[in-house]
Amino acid sequence: MSTANHIVIIGTGIAGVSAAQGAREVDPEVRITLIGEDGYPPYDRTHLSKQMLKPEARLDASSLMEPEWFDQNKIQLESNTRIESINTAAQSLSTSVGETIKYDALVLAMGTRARKLPVSLGQVESTRIHTLRTAEDALRLQGALDDSKRLVIVGAGLIGLEVAAAARARGLKVEVVEAGSRILQRSCDQYTADRIASLHADHGVELHLGQSIESVTESAQGSVSLGLSDGAAIEADLMVVGIGVIPNTELAEAAGVDVDNGVVVDGLGRTSVPNVYAAGDIASLPVPGRHGLTRLETWRHAQDHGRCVGMNAAGQENEYKALASFWSDQYEQRIQGVGLIDDEIATTLIRQYESGAHVSFMLDKNRVLKAVLGIDTAKDVNAMGKLVGRVIPVSDHELKDEHQPLVPIVKKLLKKVS
Ligand code: NAP
Repeated sequence: MSTANHIVIIGTGIAGVSAAQGAREVDPEVRITLIGEDGYPPYDRTHLSKQMLKPEARLDASSLMEPEWFDQNKIQLESNTRIESINTAAQSLSTSVGETIKYDALVLAMGTRARKLPVSLGQVESTRIHTLRTAEDALRLQGALDDSKRLVIVGAGLIGLEVAAAARARGLKVEVVEAGSRILQRSCDQYTADRIASLHADHGVELHLGQSIESVTESAQGSVSLGLSDGAAIEADLMVVGIGVIPNTELAEAAGVDVDNGVVVDGLGRTSVPNVYAAGDIASLPVPGRHGLTRLETWRHAQDHGRCVGMNAAGQENEYKALASFWSDQYEQRIQGVGLIDDEIATTLIRQYESGAHVSFMLDKNRVLKAVLGIDTAKDVNAMGKLVGRVIPVSDHELKDEHQPLVPIVKKLLKKVS
């Protein structure tokens, strides 16, 4: 049973909704209010760069919960309320229409917003230039794709490449400009990234790697033109910028809550201020096997962290064991990964199947599995994912040999450590 009488959650993404769910699981009676500002009932953000970009896709098919779920669980959903400030001494929030909401426990789940190109580059506020983070962004982009033939994307991360695949499926000419020397630097190993780059090339996407943007101009005819660092120019009807995200920490910072890249939390999701918690991709948290604090930007983490922190806001003390994982659908392929790619990876081993599917195992110098990734190898990645953070006492040969099924190997190893 909770010690809090009123739990307020700011943010209606998967972290916020999961926090409400977690709190309700712990306490059937506590009052729970879930606050968002964009006016839409909670939706699944993972659909925005995939299903939602199909012609005539509807947002209500991407709802996170059935509408009756909120009433059934006695969760008061305020999806059109903007919080202007937090008074941590009075334990209250002020809304943009001058209301005050008192809380006993507060969960910050405001997530992140899309990073934009700097205004110094030129006409970056053109209506032909899009970012993709919210339902509003997806609906706008969906309509713009209908009216365009040529799309240029800045950033070859997951947003950029999922949009590229969706736009090719709709027949647009697509070019992608990436500042780094390869695609998916943050989420994939070199081998997997090279395969995904080939996949896009096979589908007609033109990739420009190692190119920074020097200028953005809009022509009188209504096209956008990008000047690249190698002197080339790309002309398009539409531009999508997918160059990462910025955590929405301003409210927390103004309220005196410690912020370091994201809102700083401990293993229980508690911030530096009593009765204030943070969850999901706004939170900078301790992650097993990593020094300092990390902000994780994946859906599964937001869901698991949200639920755990919601339970803690309702009176429990669950230690969160963060594990990063992601998936991405591009064309007919599913890319899946568990773990984090960082500088400690010393060896990457590849298991290549005859079908073309593969698994990449990334180990540090002590043979601790840091991450596992694959294309169309869900079973293997899910099984090996259970060993992330553990020493892998099998030979390189065994890992790489496609004829030795991985699932029994993992079962055997898990038995040994349990
Ligand atoms: P991201 O994964 O950080 O990728 C952004 C890419 O843009 C990076 O490769 C970055 O290169 C490049 N870049 C940065 N500035 C640039 C510039 N000025 N010109 C050209 N390239 C530039 O971010 P994202 O793709 O925008 O995605 C946003 C968030 O949504 C991420 O957290 C992502 O994980 C999440 N997301 C997840 C999924 C999924 O899980 N399926 C799908 C979509 C989005 P450098 O690395 O060299 O800076």
